[in-house]
Amino acid sequence: MEKKTVLEELLLKKSQQKKKISPINYKKRLFVLTKANLSYYEYNKGKKGSKRGSIEIEKIRCVETVNLEETTPPARQYPFQVVYKGGLLYVYAANEESRERWLAALHKEIKDNSDLLNKYHKGFFINGKFLCCNQTCKAAPGCTIWEKYVTLCCTTESVKPLPPGPEKLWKHRSLPQVLSPDKSVLNMAVAQCNWEETEGNSAFRLVRSNKYYVLQEEDSGWWQVRDLEGENSGVSEQTLAEEQSIAKHDWYAGYVSRVQCEQLLHQKGKEGAFMVWKSSQAGMYIVSVFSKLPESRKGTVKHYHVHKTPQNKYYLTENYCFGSIPKLIHYHQLNSAGMVTRLRHAVSTQVNKVPTTASLGNGIWELKREEIVLMRELGSGQFGVVHLGKWKGKYDVAIKMIKEGAMSEDKFIEEAQTMMKFNYPKLVRLYGVCSKLYPIYLVTEYMANGCLLSYLRSHGKELQPIQLLEICYDVCDAMAFLESCQFIHRDLAARNCLVDSNLTVKVSDFGMTRYVLDDLYVSSLGTKFLVKWSAPEVFHYAKFSSKSDVWSFGILMWEVFTLGKQPYELYDDMQVIEKVSQGYRLYRPQLVSDIIYQIMYNCWHELPEKRPAFYQLLSFFEALREDNRA
Ligand code: AMP
Repeated sequence: MEKKTVLEELLLKKSQQKKKISPINYKKRLFVLTKANLSYYEYNKGKKGSKRGSIEIEKIRCVETVNLEETTPPARQYPFQVVYKGGLLYVYAANEESRERWLAALHKEIKDNSDLLNKYHKGFFINGKFLCCNQTCKAAPGCTIWEKYVTLCCTTESVKPLPPGPEKLWKHRSLPQVLSPDKSVLNMAVAQCNWEETEGNSAFRLVRSNKYYVLQEEDSGWWQVRDLEGENSGVSEQTLAEEQSIAKHDWYAGYVSRVQCEQLLHQKGKEGAFMVWKSSQAGMYIVSVFSKLPESRKGTVKHYHVHKTPQNKYYLTENYCFGSIPKLIHYHQLNSAGMVTRLRHAVSTQVNKVPTTASLGNGIWELKREEIVLMRELGSGQFGVVHLGKWKGKYDVAIKMIKEGAMSEDKFIEEAQTMMKFNYPKLVRLYGVCSKLYPIYLVTEYMANGCLLSYLRSHGKELQPIQLLEICYDVCDAMAFLESCQFIHRDLAARNCLVDSNLTVKVSDFGMTRYVLDDLYVSSLGTKFLVKWSAPEVFHYAKFSSKSDVWSFGILMWEVFTLGKQPYELYDDMQVIEKVSQGYRLYRPQLVSDIIYQIMYNCWHELPEKRPAFYQLLSFFEALREDNRA
């Protein structure tokens, strides 16, 4: 069976130039594709000769066309590439039809492969470099998104149920940002220098500018961190300390994107409005300032990189150097000294959040009601009114006051301990409850910009497509984490995500529908049941899974890119059930490119197992982001 020929044809093969000085040549070879191998043979006088090479199908990582070189003879008009572990093969078909046949056959055979690439090189590798990006290493990461990747990896039968432990997953995945809930993440930090574990046989390395999860911050100045591959180690606070020392200033926004920063400063709209942020891309601090000078009436944002002298002094403009960033900012608050204006109004993204290091109730999840002061109403939802409150007179928290009869309280309290452990930067944190008196309080992280749906409707027009993509990325990141914990959200939608002061989007209300007592809401026949976000297996058989969350995520992406439109707005629920069951899907919103529509469309595959997993979507978003940054 494995040996049965899938496709066989005489094609032109380019020499692989394995050595630098080996000449380029093109040979006619008989290519034979089976389920196990792509092999090529000599071919003489109509006869198959000896085998000249073979690539195992499971080692293939990408198959795609290649852009033609400037001058190409007619015999080499239809090239394609086979990227595999350890090599790169260029093959020429005789015509477009033949090339498409090979691409289709190879894509079909490789779709189960675990290491498919999400980027590739569209130019040839010739004379030691890629024509598309000039990279000189043959194994250099691709420079162009491989659009086929999302279709291949997302319709693969190999999207099997998750293996037992998250640790195992890290080894398999290209973007392993998952942690089990009991190994809570305090924060992300960036290494300020290179450092290698020298004791024992650990292979842990800190690489300057790389990101690490902070698992524990000990008073001794020794932090437990984890790299993205899941290796843990203790490291000195100093190696990550710079991040912390400026974090307490209200002008410091941490990791935000350039677009987020510009949006925040435009929103403030005052001459000299400024913030300091860290670029994850450049690994640098950036001071951004809003000014209407000299001529722009709408105002523009200028970005200044914080540079360092060899003596470790910081400066924005060379004549003014300081021992620390706070000193530098202080100086420029008083003097423009080469900047477009002096720094006048700090734009703070900092709500006084409960420190990530502290558990709100010192590990006791029943909080003291008298330590909570209700400030103002933020909104109301299924469970009741939500208030902004202060905990211990200091920290901002959101308090959900559960109205009587709305929640199956015992069931919730049983489960909520687990939910509290979901300490992940893209999930709204549940800090604890006050359950001794009615109404029960659910105390959660306060998100200053409220619900994502309202945010999209009121501020959506100010957002650029890259920022909309960033919102999807944040949500996908949170969902990949929940998926890795085998936790199903069940009600993912823009209305259940919240927007932080720095415009990060976090997922909220995970798993909460299980505690709703209102039958109209819970039953798929009920009038409040949210059919429009539900996968067919949910509205037909109430069968929830991470894959039904993926369906909802596709709808959420659609909400994001329509800036908060109601899905299927012309149809009522019964019509949606009928239409979706017949294969009807939401249209492509104007702001959505083909490739992004392809992602959401894949989320709406009728069969749950053919939908992508969140971790696969995440790696795709990651590639798109990189592309946008480039
Ligand atoms: P919910 O009951 O979760 O649907 O919340 C109702 C409304 O309260 C939301 O639409 C938000 O406007 C607001 N809200 C809920 N939770 C928070 C929070 N953690 N931070 C800020 N606003 C919130």
